[in-house]
Amino acid sequence: MTDLTVLGAGIFGLSVAYEAAKRGARVQVIDPHGPGAGASGGVVGALAPHAPENWKPAKALQLQALLSAGAFWRGVEAAGGQPAGWARTGRVQPLKDARAVELAQARALEAESLWQGQARWFVREAGRPLDPQSPTGLVAQDDLTARIHPRMAVPALVAALTRLGGEVLRTGDLRGTVVHATGAAGLRELSETFGRPIGRGEKGQAALLAFSAPEAPQVYAPGLHLVFHADGTTGLGSTSERDYDDPESTDARLEALLELAVQTLPALKDARVISRWAGERPRAATRTVCLAPWPGREGHYIANGGFKTGFAMAPLAAGLLCDLIFEGRDAIPAAWALPA
Ligand SMILES: Cc1cc2nc3c(=O)[nH]c(=O)nc-3n(C[C@H](O)[C@H](O)[C@H](O)COP(=O)(O)OP(=O)(O)OC[C@H]3O[C@@H](n4cnc5c(N)ncnc54)[C@H](O)[C@@H]3O)c2cc1C
Repeated sequence: MTDLTVLGAGIFGLSVAYEAAKRGARVQVIDPHGPGAGASGGVVGALAPHAPENWKPAKALQLQALLSAGAFWRGVEAAGGQPAGWARTGRVQPLKDARAVELAQARALEAESLWQGQARWFVREAGRPLDPQSPTGLVAQDDLTARIHPRMAVPALVAALTRLGGEVLRTGDLRGTVVHATGAAGLRELSETFGRPIGRGEKGQAALLAFSAPEAPQVYAPGLHLVFHADGTTGLGSTSERDYDDPESTDARLEALLELAVQTLPALKDARVISRWAGERPRAATRTVCLAPWPGREGHYIANGGFKTGFAMAPLAAGLLCDLIFEGRDAIPAAWALPA
């Protein structure tokens, strides 16, 4: 039986650990702060595609990740017996002017070929319950976007891993192959180790509202995601901040986002704020996933760089890393190499 130690119990570390345990490895996850202590302990969980246009390998990978996510999360739920909050509920966006409508219509045509008939993007009249305010009276909708509830998904992964014989620990000795999935702190450490900018953190603030609409498509307007969760709450995010002293504090920027949310979706006016939350996204210099052997350190690997799409990309990244570690099959895209 192969031994694997994963450092970091965020979505990247836990997904790798679960995938490895499924393949029969003896897995331990070590995180001094416990599961979901970093960015993965948030409240938003949008699994949303890039716009269907200007196709490139990164978009193709993201499409693959989004289309395969349902099977991954159903497997996690079956293995651990706990719901993860995944559903492909789609997404609605307001269209602010004629130019935005034209662009959305062009994207609808592009989606027909680029999304290979597996998902649709279309323009329709606004007016359904929980549609956002839209100056043109039209909205763009897609049925590819899904959602996950970070606060359900992380415990669901821990439950699945544990049932498969894995352990999640606060401390422990490294055993066997080691995967470093240590988020923003890990990117800073790698930058210091290699003396070049591998990555850093980027702060984001978000809130959880007592507003129940678990079947509704999520709402996206510039700078605002509204995600209606399976447990009858709604996640709202997010700010993007480069300069900060305290990565975990919330402030007036979040209050402004809450106001924008009510302007965009007036039905939220009386929704109680259950909690305010902030965390650090792991932002690689390449702005994409970093999935690579640790240069010069045999048996050590890096799984990081989820940035704004970590929940969307972690299952696919976990599968590719385990293919490499356990089967020697390297199908990791070149774009996910450690930043040069
Ligand atoms: C406000 C906000 C909104 C977001 N919204 C979305 C969204 O809608 N959709 C989406 O897909 N993504 C979203 N993200 C991004 C997503 O949360 C991240 O990409 C993802 O959580 C990163 O996961 P990770 O496992 O790499 O890092 P983390 O979750 O940060 O986990 C890293 C873990 O490593 C541990 N650690 C650190 N150092 C060590 C060490 N030396 N040894 C052991 N453990 C260590 C930490 O305690 C931590 O638990 C959002 C992020 C934020 C901040």
